[in-house]
Amino acid sequence: MAAMAQSHTHVHANTPCSPQEAEAFLAQAETLVQNKGQKLTRIRRKVLHLLLESSEPAKAYDLLANLDGEGAAKPPTIYRALDFLQDMGLAHKIESLNAYVACGHASHPHSAVFLICESCGGAEELHAVDTSKALTKETKAAGFNIRTAVIEARGTCRNCAA
Ligand SMILES: [Zn+2]
Ligand SMILES: [Zn+2]
Ligand SMILES: [Zn+2]
Repeated sequence: MAAMAQSHTHVHANTPCSPQEAEAFLAQAETLVQNKGQKLTRIRRKVLHLLLESSEPAKAYDLLANLDGEGAAKPPTIYRALDFLQDMGLAHKIESLNAYVACGHASHPHSAVFLICESCGGAEELHAVDTSKALTKETKAAGFNIRTAVIEARGTCRNCAA
């Protein structure tokens, strides 16, 4: 598997589904949400922006602490915003880290596959296009309908392996 060419981080990697700029990403997110008949409210947008700016998966309470200027923001507000972003395919939760990341791959169907490095603690989402097909095929064969799936792969990243 050509893992080097396929893996990338969300906002820094130079691929069609990973815009370099937060503003460009937010504009795309706005369109995506509108196309689904929803609204990217101020708070949802702010939470997404914080996720984009975070260099590592963000915990809900860190997001809460950084929502300055949104005095009314309380934990339920954050969780609702995070749920919304996940429903829209704009963010994923990494259960094992109890943390959230923005997803740059909303433009193509995929199952979220996270590469979590046990040496440096880094977590990046794989540009995964075949995983979802294989997973759907095999789970359908088992008579199961997937609503959502997040795959958390643990191991060593290319930087730490070098
Ligand atoms: Zn994703
Ligand atoms: Zn590493
Ligand atoms: Zn992608």
